[in-house]
Amino acid sequence: MRADRLEEVPSCALCGTGERSTLFTEEPFSVVRCSNCGLVYVTPRLPPGVLLEEIYDESYWKSDSPKVRGYADYSAERDFYVRTFRIRNRFVRSFASPPGKVLDVGCAAGFFLAVAREDGWECAGVEPSAPIAETARKNLPGVEIFTGLLEDAPFEKESFDLVTLWDVVEHTPDPVSFLRAASAMVKPGGVLVLETQNVDSLFARILGRKWQHYKHAEHLYHFSPHTLRRLLEKEAGLAVLAMTSRYGGKLVSPAFVAERAGRIHPVLSGLLSPLSAMKRTAFYINLFDELVAACRKPGGGGGE
Ligand SMILES: [Zn+2]
Repeated sequence: MRADRLEEVPSCALCGTGERSTLFTEEPFSVVRCSNCGLVYVTPRLPPGVLLEEIYDESYWKSDSPKVRGYADYSAERDFYVRTFRIRNRFVRSFASPPGKVLDVGCAAGFFLAVAREDGWECAGVEPSAPIAETARKNLPGVEIFTGLLEDAPFEKESFDLVTLWDVVEHTPDPVSFLRAASAMVKPGGVLVLETQNVDSLFARILGRKWQHYKHAEHLYHFSPHTLRRLLEKEAGLAVLAMTSRYGGKLVSPAFVAERAGRIHPVLSGLLSPLSAMKRTAFYINLFDELVAACRKPGGGGGE
């Protein structure tokens, strides 16, 4: 990453206040908390166009240093992601059921869309990272996957019964305009489901700067239940139906556990490395440090 291209973030994306306190610094990045609304964000950072070029290239999805950036091998863990999304889909089904149209924004290799399709949804996806969008197209023949930003996607506004954002909002340079664009895709009365990490969770507080979600070049924001609700309700005009950490877990491989444990302490990684031989095993891990929210877009009859 080119440190000379980093730009200072002058003010909070949620409330516009410039006052903030620094939680910690890992050069060249500082993690700060807005003094007014409490939003936690990273400054300085790469400008939006450079982010796409420098962070979300092919090596993001098969990274040599996944603790710092990206995934060890995203496509190879297909089975784990699909099984994780089947569990999360139970949450989605509490609020929205097929038939209908779903748009997955930041769809990566299309693993959630694969689950949605087997569930009976008509599917579409948006993915700014070109190499993984190509993988999604291969995985899901006949499904329209737009390569680019949501704001540029050719889909008709208010045409989706369900819009999903899995681990996406924390990556977006401007979460307010992003959520408004996502909300604009939802039919009146339709549902938006979003997942992101919870900076106020017990696990995040215990680990402090060693929390696995502090990946400063890519995780630009860290929401809490309070700041996420403000984003969804006040800024995007959605009604929050539920917000929970119950469905925030994921099925992971033993190698993933060893790699992430190494972030807490290198000795843990070494101790757990024999697990990596257990190729077919999967663990369902929920650290309760993620938030999954379901929201309804106002309108669409029902006397509102
Ligand atoms: Zn703020």
